[in-house]
Amino acid sequence: MSPEAIDRFILFLAEKGVIAMPIKPEHRAKYGRAWKRIRERILARAKHRCEQCHVPNDAVGYRDEDGAFVRLCFAWRRDIAANAERIEDAQADGYKVIRIVLTVAHLDHNPEHNDPANLRALCQRCHLAHDQSHHQQSAYMTRMAKRNNLELPL
Ligand SMILES: [Zn+2]
Repeated sequence: MSPEAIDRFILFLAEKGVIAMPIKPEHRAKYGRAWKRIRERILARAKHRCEQCHVPNDAVGYRDEDGAFVRLCFAWRRDIAANAERIEDAQADGYKVIRIVLTVAHLDHNPEHNDPANLRALCQRCHLAHDQSHHQQSAYMTRMAKRNNLELPL
């Protein structure tokens, strides 16, 4: 592949959501310096793997029929270029090729509670599942509160 073709392919993957677009400068301010340090410490503690399902950060691959992550390569320029064919084959087979991006979740859903014991490095899927259980719990509390005519908990 020529460097131009690699650039086009990387842009193609970014547009498909396989590779994250760089953070826009206007959004950078909300990622505070203190949080950045905390986040790096948690990712280092997790050895850059999801602390729930253990997929490595920056891996490119897909979930198979059983939900197991199949790694094709890492989201590094050279690795993508070397594995472009495998990525294209997986997409042609109908798999949704993604890049694993670890984020740091608050176990108690309180964004101000940054004690390391309250933080977990999670992949997109585990983070979503964690948030969904919280949303379901909140919805359940709301229904119960309405049914019993109680004050909503904060
Ligand atoms: Zn995970």
